[in-house]
Amino acid sequence: MIRNYRDLTRWEMERVDKEETIILIPLGALEQHGNQAPLGTDDIIAEAMVEEIGKALEAEGETDFPMLAFPVIPVGLSTEHKNFCGSVTLRPDTYYHMLYDISVSLAHHGFKKLAFLVCHGGNAPIVQVLSRELRSELGISPFILSSGAFGHPDVLATVSEGNIWDFHGGEMETSMVMAVDESLVKLELSEAGIPTAFEHNEALKPYGNVSIGWVSEDWRTKDGKPIGIGGDPAGATAEKGRKILETSAKVLIPGLKEIRKWKG
Ligand SMILES: [Zn+2]
Repeated sequence: MIRNYRDLTRWEMERVDKEETIILIPLGALEQHGNQAPLGTDDIIAEAMVEEIGKALEAEGETDFPMLAFPVIPVGLSTEHKNFCGSVTLRPDTYYHMLYDISVSLAHHGFKKLAFLVCHGGNAPIVQVLSRELRSELGISPFILSSGAFGHPDVLATVSEGNIWDFHGGEMETSMVMAVDESLVKLELSEAGIPTAFEHNEALKPYGNVSIGWVSEDWRTKDGKPIGIGGDPAGATAEKGRKILETSAKVLIPGLKEIRKWKG
């Protein structure tokens, strides 16, 4: 089990080895994930991933791994989802500066290793820029971890046949939420989303070598209604979600062990 940063007293925190302890900072979002999955999907995944990482470390005999889990940052950069009901976003500069200030506080207490667990793709570009600035300006070592091993064969094996556009709010993310609490998902309301405008393009896609700054209205149902999710959540199950969480945590362990050894 990874200890929560917020659970330590000041007295305990004074005794933490700041040189070696990794602060794991999970970065969530508060944004629409289709008709069926909750607005807090990325936060829910973030919390589940912290738990899974703890379990995966223990399974490898790493019972005293020097890591503290920071509270999940509940709002991120969700500009692309802002026109769908319930989505809340920070502006890019606000998000950057908030994470920068948190990092400065942690560095002020002597922490050298910050590991950002990116649980929403929209947060990733900010964290990439931020981590280089932190390293250069504060001389600390910022690391970036991805919350979903969505390209891993064991994860891809959970995706239903023909569901080729699955990513945001699709079968994988919906399954991950179901693994935590099935009652939060209203699968009967789900509708599949595909990027209809790009569907027949050879080169220009929402991501890839030639891409566009997409907005979630680009993702539509077959009959052209903006639905804001990529993929078809219909085949989501809690069992698939457990497999995805477990695999996603497991692939992070070799990197975390090397972060532990890292001398910045
Ligand atoms: Zn998400």
